[in-house]
Amino acid sequence: MSIESQLRADIVEVGRRMYARGYTASNDGNISVRLGSDRLLMTPKSVCKGFMTPDMMCITDLEGRKLQGDRDPSSEMLMHLEVYRQRPDVQAVVHAHPPIATGFAVAGIPLDRAVLAEVLTTLGSIPIAEYATPSTKELPEAVRKYIKAHDAMLLANHGALTSGADLYAAYYKMETIEHFAKISLVARLLGRENLIARDEVDRLQGLRGSYGIKAPAPICADPAEALALLDAGNPALCQVVQAPEGEGQRLVPDVIGDGPPSLTPTLRSSYGARPPQRSEAAGEIRLTYRELSTLIADAVKNLR
Ligand SMILES: [Zn+2]
Repeated sequence: MSIESQLRADIVEVGRRMYARGYTASNDGNISVRLGSDRLLMTPKSVCKGFMTPDMMCITDLEGRKLQGDRDPSSEMLMHLEVYRQRPDVQAVVHAHPPIATGFAVAGIPLDRAVLAEVLTTLGSIPIAEYATPSTKELPEAVRKYIKAHDAMLLANHGALTSGADLYAAYYKMETIEHFAKISLVARLLGRENLIARDEVDRLQGLRGSYGIKAPAPICADPAEALALLDAGNPALCQVVQAPEGEGQRLVPDVIGDGPPSLTPTLRSSYGARPPQRSEAAGEIRLTYRELSTLIADAVKNLR
């Protein structure tokens, strides 16, 4: 089988898996791979990714001009082209709407807390690219801000985007995003996330080299400063991970009293510096304003 035939078959297989896992509905999502140095193989417009055949794919150049294929290339082609332009190391791009991760994208909550060791080691964090109208030039502009530092990102009120050194690497990152989002959702529904402390995050980052993980950027040494630069419109140069100081502890209990941190820079910066926490070490209990209000309201109710 030629390389092109194999890649066509791989796209069909990845599309089937995305559809079977519910990452796409109807004709959603799109997939592309580099075909040599100057061409791309891409899924066509308006087909269900669960029912594609190898002959459906389009071949385009790196400017998006169609070179071969009966159908037109994906409506999100501009976003794919931007990733290849910004990241010469990327060989494949996958876009889908996995429902739990997309829920986070709709809620405006990035998957950037230090929660899972393997996600920190591989992806670092998963930011949210600002909302842009799908299939317009706005979307590649939103993606451009994060793509140099991230292999995976959420797209506000839309879905998720991943890239990789080959098609399966890009697809597995989509699986990781959705899996991470599910675990984060369950932990938050349970009302508690034990966060990995900053020192341990640094240790995990040190493992990247020994596992041969080629992350596009390091984890930010100062997340508050990195967020301020992002808010000022600068592109991401490192991966923002919200990790509390552990003071000797590797895991820090974090009771989410006020819900997820707001996207406003002030709140997020202060969260990065010292997250809300309940310390019972010396018989001291720290409560958030909301927890305290709830306790008082309960006490008043019981008096009646
Ligand atoms: Zn989409």
